[in-house]
Amino acid sequence: MARVGRRPSAELAAQMAACYRADTDALELGRPDHEPLASQTMEAIIDYIAVLVASGHAYAADGDVYFRVRSDPGYGSLSHRRLDDMDQGEGVEGAERKEDPLDFALWKARKEGEDTSWDSPWGRGRPGWHIECSAMAEQLLGIGFDIHGGGSDLVFPHHENEAAQTRAARGSELARLWMHNGMIQLTGEKMAKSLGNIAPLHEVLERHGRDAVVMYLISGHYRQPLAFSEAELQAAERSVYRIRDALRRLRADRPSPPELRRHAEAFFDALANDFNTPAAREALFNWIREANSRDDDVGDADLREMLAVLGFERLAPLGSAQDLAVSDPEAIDLLAQREQARERRDFPEADRLRAALLARGYEIRDGPHGSELIPAER
Ligand SMILES: [Zn+2]
Repeated sequence: MARVGRRPSAELAAQMAACYRADTDALELGRPDHEPLASQTMEAIIDYIAVLVASGHAYAADGDVYFRVRSDPGYGSLSHRRLDDMDQGEGVEGAERKEDPLDFALWKARKEGEDTSWDSPWGRGRPGWHIECSAMAEQLLGIGFDIHGGGSDLVFPHHENEAAQTRAARGSELARLWMHNGMIQLTGEKMAKSLGNIAPLHEVLERHGRDAVVMYLISGHYRQPLAFSEAELQAAERSVYRIRDALRRLRADRPSPPELRRHAEAFFDALANDFNTPAAREALFNWIREANSRDDDVGDADLREMLAVLGFERLAPLGSAQDLAVSDPEAIDLLAQREQARERRDFPEADRLRAALLARGYEIRDGPHGSELIPAER
């Protein structure tokens, strides 16, 4: 339904937060311990700005407050940019009130038509988005916490400005380590609403399932951009299928042969080396390949240990004939008919029954202990 007029900003914010939770829940990422809101941290944000103004790192101008970038000698140390190559992305807005075009907004005076504003020593208005993060992070974690994360698109100006504000106000660094993940790219281009090439996460999850999406995400290194295509997602689906097929053949809850341990060690070494998930994934499939090539019964312990680290602890073996007898007795009946057709050497009929099973979504595996059904690869 089309909406006429502008939606209240609080309603829009609540809706976006709900979408974020729904998507991350579907990916089974778990919930953060805290989910702070800028609108509920306003006192701390205003105090923070006041400290910056009092120390000369910021100045008020016509109800706005700006950070004096050249007052921070460490500015640029995060994004490694030269001062003169920097553009705060604030456009012409407030340009005439800035002492220096490099300066960025800490507080913006309320404008006509804005539905949300707060009182401050500089008049009614709202905070800039960089100062919100410095204040919220400090309130929950203190100064000098271990890791600050975010997308690579936030290095500049957002994180550079967060770091500068905290250095200027508190005299020490906000975080010891800043980690940035690469963006998902569609055929070499950035996904963007304006380009019309967006694939919403919930649609991708519906099409390919959570496990395939997680498998796809770990196929690249987190720091690098990741190409998005249907073919990549389908490849990830096949990878999940191969693991489930391996689990079907392995002995559940048994130790794995020590000869296979080197692959599991390579897996954990790769993850210990800056989360090198592509290398870890390769080691996992090397383990599976070697396990599949052995004649003896191989226990699944190593594989289960690796899968748990990647968030695949609940991955189930491909369905066994016993499972199917409960869930799809007709399929078991068709399989028995095919066995009988083969016994009387009626191969056209046996082939017809194989095709009928495939149409129902099953493949036949003929093995030394008879034939069994496994779900067909999509
Ligand atoms: Zn932030």
